[in-house]
Amino acid sequence: MRIVLLGPPGAGKGTQAEILATRLGVAHVATGDLFRREVKRGTPLGRRAAGYMRRGELIPDELVVRMVAQHLTRPAVRRGFALDGFPRTVAQAEALDAALGLRGESIDLVLDFRTPVRVILRRLTGRWICQRCGAIYHAVTMAPNVAGRCDRCPGRLIQRIDDKRSTIVRRLQVYRRDSAPVVRYYARRQLLHSVRGDWQAERLYRHLVRLFRAQGVLAAR
Ligand code: AMP
Repeated sequence: MRIVLLGPPGAGKGTQAEILATRLGVAHVATGDLFRREVKRGTPLGRRAAGYMRRGELIPDELVVRMVAQHLTRPAVRRGFALDGFPRTVAQAEALDAALGLRGESIDLVLDFRTPVRVILRRLTGRWICQRCGAIYHAVTMAPNVAGRCDRCPGRLIQRIDDKRSTIVRRLQVYRRDSAPVVRYYARRQLLHSVRGDWQAERLYRHLVRLFRAQGVLAAR
């Protein structure tokens, strides 16, 4: 299964990709998480990416494409993946098609998460993530068992520096400018399926399983 999750920040892609990874065994590839790891480690790539991320701007295509292309060659990822946060520009979408095409592979299906802006703002301003494993929580709707601590690992919960209101607004503008054309790119290839990002995660998951079966991406029971 090779699927792409599109949608603005806070649309619910990360939460759903995590569920798909756990239950369907596909690799969850989140470019934001990969870059945050590079920043934390202080690698040359991380140092180049940090400023763009803090401002809510996109990291230049050539840096992103190189990192993703490398990542997709890993054995665990070659068996199937859910791409979360990539592609974010048409150039990235074309590079992805080219990289997969070299191996005779292609994207099976693209999900477009439709989520109202008020839901996005509520989610992102209350979002906490585990510093260690990246698990996502919400102060009100998905609180951890112990405040400030991850339920799954010994990690501490932190708020992302780009989850400030002013940066969220910038990220939404960038999404409309650079990433909305990616939605049209996949619509033209008839791969696009719109889904309700404001649905509760479990309800959306059940819907996706039915969609995947109907589209032949997941074996029928
Ligand atoms: P995310 O966790 O997906 O919200 O990504 C956090 C930040 O990482 C974004 O605001 C960008 O600065 C950067 N980033 C992640 N994925 C990409 C991408 N595909 N292209 C450019 N920048 C990206």
